[in-house]
Amino acid sequence: MAFQFWKKENWRHLDISMKVLLALLFLLVGLIPMGVLGLMMNRSFQRTQIDGRIIEVQNQSLITSDRLTRADYMGAAKGDALIGRELDTVADIFNGRIVVVDRNFYIVKDTFNLSEGKINVSEPVIRCFQGEHGILREDEKQYFAVTDPIYDTTPERNIVGVLLTIASTENILSNISSVGENARFFMIIAFVVLALVGTVLAFLLVKPFERLQLSLDRMADGNLGENISENTYRETRTISEALQKTKTKLQTVDQSREEFVANVSHELKTPLTSIRVLADSLMGMEEVPAELYREFMTDISEEIDRESKIVDDLLSLVKMDKSASELNIAQVDINALIQQILKRLTPIAQKRNIDLIYESIRDVTAEVDEMKLSLAISNLAENAIKYNVENGWVRVTLDADHKYFYVRVADSGIGIPEDKQDSVFERFYRVDKARSRETGGTGLGLAITKNVVLMHYGSIRLTSKEGEGSVFTMRIPLTYII
Ligand code: ADP
Repeated sequence: MAFQFWKKENWRHLDISMKVLLALLFLLVGLIPMGVLGLMMNRSFQRTQIDGRIIEVQNQSLITSDRLTRADYMGAAKGDALIGRELDTVADIFNGRIVVVDRNFYIVKDTFNLSEGKINVSEPVIRCFQGEHGILREDEKQYFAVTDPIYDTTPERNIVGVLLTIASTENILSNISSVGENARFFMIIAFVVLALVGTVLAFLLVKPFERLQLSLDRMADGNLGENISENTYRETRTISEALQKTKTKLQTVDQSREEFVANVSHELKTPLTSIRVLADSLMGMEEVPAELYREFMTDISEEIDRESKIVDDLLSLVKMDKSASELNIAQVDINALIQQILKRLTPIAQKRNIDLIYESIRDVTAEVDEMKLSLAISNLAENAIKYNVENGWVRVTLDADHKYFYVRVADSGIGIPEDKQDSVFERFYRVDKARSRETGGTGLGLAITKNVVLMHYGSIRLTSKEGEGSVFTMRIPLTYII
């Protein structure tokens, strides 16, 4: 399909090198004003040349008609050969033709000797007899004619004849066209020079962008150590800065991915090592009593549970990965949701005689992903029970304002030291590894909770004092922001 100029999209996908565009631009910007100027100068030169020639011929005609009047050329000296030769000379001098017409429109003298005795009733001649001086310009036919009256010698000065001078402008025009030829030659030279200069300039101007592209290519090849700084233009500087930022981010992602993989392998290996030790020691023993078998097998089974819990948590976390996940948003009764969670956790709490208190300040219905939010609140409540003291308490509070709802999980537990409070949300981070292992923790619970909160455009805050207890507060918008 042909290129449609009026369509914006077409211009957006030109796929032309910027160098070509710039070179063309330089050429046009240089040539167009030069062409227009040349044309204008040519016109005005032509006009002044022709005007000058007309004035010259007019003066000459005035002088000649005056001379004819004084010599009484239309009366006593009619047809005088001497004057006739004079007229021939004058006509030759300005390269024109002189015709004298008498009162009866008969041509009495023609320096071209072509029409003597013939009648001339042309418009300028008639008008001249009526007392109007005039010129007739025929620029197209490359000539002009000037008329001047010839008078008799009486004091009344009657018009008795007309001096008609015809001159050609051909010479002038051919002069001008030779000037035009020179100008064209000059234009061609200018075109070549402009094209060369434009191309060189275009190459130089685009160079910084090419350097940027090279850096980008190297980055794409995985060379993240590359320092990108191209400060020639403000544009290239801002692009470099943006690239530098992207690069730093990529490096962080790369690094955290490596750390994550290392952590995952380590975490998955721990239960496997335990299983291997247990199995090896069983195999190394001869005549093992059945109880010992059972005990070891129970331990192995626990380690397998642990392994599968880690895998489950990891899967939840991967599913939760912000960009990859799709939220299943619906109107959810948060009160009912929390009650359900707490009911499920009551047996675990009862085991350690922990008091589970639920306080609902307001009924809340919000647009959330029920499954994911349930997981997030469960993790908080479970931790509050796990990291608690015997006979302690856990208080879950639900509140809301016009924009957000708040779930607060407070406990009377062991608390988290201040310097560790930022780290607890990291994957696999545990304050006390031994205790967490005892309680079957994977170190992923709070990372999952934080991800869920962020997916809902909410925030989570922790205040805690070692030995006194912790308070986790999550704030989530009532309506999901798309
Ligand atoms: P875990 O599976 O080990 O419980 P989490 O990500 O849920 O992993 O928690 C990370 C760490 O934060 C825990 O190992 C624990 O040390 C600490 N922690 C979490 N919740 C509490 C709490 N309510 N009281 C004290 N420490 C807590």
